[in-house]
Amino acid sequence: MLKNNPSQFPLSSNTGSEPALEFLASNLRVCRASHAQCRIFTPNTGYFPTRVVDVGQVHDTLVQVRKYSDLAQRSEYVTLSHCWGGTQFVTLTVETEAMLYPGIAVKALPHTFQDAIFVCRKLRFHYLWIDSLWVLLLYHSHAFDC
Ligand SMILES: [Zn+2]
Repeated sequence: MLKNNPSQFPLSSNTGSEPALEFLASNLRVCRASHAQCRIFTPNTGYFPTRVVDVGQVHDTLVQVRKYSDLAQRSEYVTLSHCWGGTQFVTLTVETEAMLYPGIAVKALPHTFQDAIFVCRKLRFHYLWIDSLWVLLLYHSHAFDC
């Protein structure tokens, strides 16, 4: 439960504004510092996906898919779980996997993905797991595990 007083932060109509992101970062700091239940889930416990998106740095134009097993050490990652709706977007299939590993332009991704990448970068998370990018893989091919 977040205990920060929202009135400490100026209201903004843009959830990507610096005050909005600082509000989010502040609540994340409180969570990490004072929520014992939330600290149960660390990079050394729990489930890890086999693939994550390396979001890179703030001004990078590309993001890369990385096999989690190739990372030097277990690291925190952010999960994007959203309503897929009827929108057609990039999913990981045998055909798209080869395209995704060298890097994919952030601008080529759906806005929801772009927003998640933006927030990850601002909060200094390096890895993002996107359910729709991976889950549909199971539907298209049994050659990979999620
Ligand atoms: Zn928490």
